Amino acid sequence: MSSFSDELKRREADGLFRRRRILASPQGARVRVDGEELLSFCSNDYLGLANHLALIEAACRGAREFGVGSGASHLVTGHTAAHHELELALAQFVDAPAALLLSTGYMANLGIVTALVGRNGEIFADKLNHASLNDAAVLSRARLRRYPHCDLAALERLLAASTAQCKLVVSDAVFSMDGDIAPVPELLALCEAYDARLLLDDAHGFGVLGARGRGVLEHFSLPLVPYPPRLIYMATLGKAAGVFGAFAAGEPQMIEWLVQSARSYIYTTATPPMLATAVLASLRVIAEEGWRRERLRELVAVLHRDLRPGRWRLMPSVTPIQPLLIGSAHQSLEVSEALRRRGILVPAIRPPTVPQGEARLRISLSAAHGPGDVALLVDALNELRIA
Ligand SMILES: *Cc1c(COP(=O)(O)O)cnc(C)c1O
Repeated sequence: MSSFSDELKRREADGLFRRRRILASPQGARVRVDGEELLSFCSNDYLGLANHLALIEAACRGAREFGVGSGASHLVTGHTAAHHELELALAQFVDAPAALLLSTGYMANLGIVTALVGRNGEIFADKLNHASLNDAAVLSRARLRRYPHCDLAALERLLAASTAQCKLVVSDAVFSMDGDIAPVPELLALCEAYDARLLLDDAHGFGVLGARGRGVLEHFSLPLVPYPPRLIYMATLGKAAGVFGAFAAGEPQMIEWLVQSARSYIYTTATPPMLATAVLASLRVIAEEGWRRERLRELVAVLHRDLRPGRWRLMPSVTPIQPLLIGSAHQSLEVSEALRRRGILVPAIRPPTVPQGEARLRISLSAAHGPGDVALLVDALNELRIA
């Protein structure tokens, strides 16, 4: 048995040791880290709502009305009027017949996948899917087939060859390290043709994509009446929505099946109701403050317009996830550190999170940034690329 200390030293030697930064401020364009104020391009708070006054006040009201802890699981006595109201609002928000609130996106994916497929099922997963979807597939004991990123022909070959009774295609809607968008209409058409279900994980699209921020389905203007019976839509509430949690949406019978059988829903304490009241306020802000999505589009355009072509390539993303492909893990780290010395925080993403030779800076933009903030980043990168 090797000791933890040996394993930890090996991680350190391989440049894979992770250190947590300690923040002394809320999320925002500028954060206080280790006594320094830094311009941050590393949160998933895409709309700048994590520190929004309306959400903070809603959380306080929720705490005063329901207390802090929910005290029980949803199926016992933890399911409050705030949770109930939020589920109705979430369903309406994404034009789905029904929705279920779950504790986190990670737990939602574990619960949904294991409730939908078992030992005799087969799961078809994009190679670049989020880790939680892969973990869920392993937990389900279904056969797992991973297809090359967004390769519809490869997916179709796998579906055509499958003899499983129960088939589930799973895909991120917006890929978290590349920022590109899955071909959702085509995925849905393949699921129709081969009698499969489709689980879409819209963690990075909800609140951001579509003119009204309803997410990837609005982005593609998919007809949602009647709701596609094969579709299970899932999104998280800790990114653009600025709070915490996740939900699944779809046919009422499918949602009821999750209530009855998703183990990560049943065997856990209900989310604090104050978070449900905060998310309710967040949905209102997402709907009313359309300028936040416009600001994001503007910032993406500024970045692509002003960053000079050079050794590193900005990947072709229209979402707030804007990866700058550098290649070597070592160099990515150096660029990230050079930016940090200039007061700018951008994380280097290295293997195994991304493939070998595709290390990158993951720039994430937020409506909390102004055009001047992006200009500071662009100037610093343009200088570093010449140096
Ligand atoms: C962040 C993320 C999750 C996990 O959501 P949490 O609420 O943070 O647990 C799941 N899927 C994708 C694609 C994500 O980016």
